[in-house]
Amino acid sequence: MHEKKFEFSYEVFDSIDELQKEDAWLLNEAREVTQQAYAPYSKFHVGAVAKLVNGEIVAGSNQENASFPAGLCAERVLLASVSSIYPKTSIETIAISYQSNGAISDHPISPCGVCRQSLQEFEQRTNHPIRLVLGGMEGKVYVISKSSLLLPLAFTSDELL
Ligand SMILES: [Zn+2]
Repeated sequence: MHEKKFEFSYEVFDSIDELQKEDAWLLNEAREVTQQAYAPYSKFHVGAVAKLVNGEIVAGSNQENASFPAGLCAERVLLASVSSIYPKTSIETIAISYQSNGAISDHPISPCGVCRQSLQEFEQRTNHPIRLVLGGMEGKVYVISKSSLLLPLAFTSDELL
């Protein structure tokens, strides 16, 4: 037996003001896009905005449904939009923010497990890391250099060939 270790590091900024200009702009866009969420059930409004390698900007927000499992997270709405509008185009950075009627939005949230799986595969198939900029409407901001770092030992398409 031998032990293997997984480690990952990420950057923590005290506020949006410490970010490089482009990341700050993208996070502000994500904050704005929270207003486009359709979240009448959870009242948890998430906005995700991607900057693509071609310089284009694409936004996504969570879209819920009375049949709860039919709802989609902002991240997967965003990935589907990117694939539809700019097929085979890599994503450079995604900023994610949120507003909740029931809680204060003063700390970063990170993608759920299902979205981590989708982000990992998007990275793999476009052969490009996706940086994540995670922050609430205020407070600390996390910058993660590669979204697949959030999903060690991922199940990938390699298993299906
Ligand atoms: Zn999700």
